[in-house]
Amino acid sequence: MKIAIYPGTFDPVTLGHLDIIIRASKLVDQLVIGVLTNISKKTVFTVEERVQFLHRVLKENNLEGKIKIESFNGLLVDFAKAHNASFIVRGLRAVTDFDYELQLAQTNHVMVPEIDTVFFTTRLEYSYLSSSTVREIASFGGDIKQFVPECIVQSVYDKYKAIGSV
Ligand code: ADP
Repeated sequence: MKIAIYPGTFDPVTLGHLDIIIRASKLVDQLVIGVLTNISKKTVFTVEERVQFLHRVLKENNLEGKIKIESFNGLLVDFAKAHNASFIVRGLRAVTDFDYELQLAQTNHVMVPEIDTVFFTTRLEYSYLSSSTVREIASFGGDIKQFVPECIVQSVYDKYKAIGSV
């Protein structure tokens, strides 16, 4: 069984992430979306919210069958090994992603040679899109409908209302 891990912060999940999820899931028997909890940067959405958004998005797109969502902390390679994954999936938007992603992939490969990183190049319409752009627009009450799956739009606005920034 071919298993891949798609790790990320997903703060919040965007249409760019969804595009990678759909494309990557076609290549494997099981895709495990790993939602990071131990990052040094502070997230706006709690890990429970980020996981719940992803569940909603999978449900809305009928993708629940071979995709699992799990939160994790610690080393990505350990998470991948625990799931018997052969691949780590990452997305590449622009050259700005390249240095960091190459370093990460090579380090992981040195640590666990049997796990390879596979890159998906972003679709043109999402090449500019990041969770931080979405957060910035939402924090000013701007329109995020073109950037995140419809089923999470209201929850993103609600969060910013709750933290008092809109
Ligand atoms: P991280 O904080 O690890 O970069 P993200 O949740 O921001 O986590 O992203 C997870 C992965 O998805 C990364 O490989 C990132 O390059 C990729 N990604 C994010 N946005 C897009 C996009 N618009 N198109 C393609 N890949 C993307």
